[in-house]
Amino acid sequence: MVNQNNGGNGAAAHEDAKPQTIQQNLEAQAQGRLRGGQLSTYACAECGGTLWQIEENGHLHFQCHVGHTYSPQVLLQQKAVLLEALLWSSVRTLVEKGTLVRQMVNRLPADADPEQRARIEQMARLDTEQEQALRRMLEAYPNPSAQGYIVTEALEKA
Ligand SMILES: [Zn+2]
Repeated sequence: MVNQNNGGNGAAAHEDAKPQTIQQNLEAQAQGRLRGGQLSTYACAECGGTLWQIEENGHLHFQCHVGHTYSPQVLLQQKAVLLEALLWSSVRTLVEKGTLVRQMVNRLPADADPEQRARIEQMARLDTEQEQALRRMLEAYPNPSAQGYIVTEALEKA
């Protein structure tokens, strides 16, 4: 409708998926006018773009300006999956960092300053403690792929 200048970028393929609110917001933004749409504080799970909050016919959904669309339940599920992946990435990084520190301690000369050696060994112990704390957190965390369904079920009973 409005987009006559596709410019050959990949985003143009989703132009038609944009509801009127997003299109009006993008035009207002381009012209430096105040925008009337409800911009959420959430980022798109697929492209990292800003999500608009749109309520149509009593249904709430979120959509970025390239057309990725989420129900609140799916957005929650996406955020939970992302959070779990980031936490596991942190666990892995702590394991790697602690191992590397221990490897470096083993390369210290025999006559290295014992105080410095102890400080470096303490760094490795802290990495292990933090890794274990994150593992405990992950074990106590509900299954991220089930969170959207749990919320949906609770909303349907309400
Ligand atoms: Zn997106």
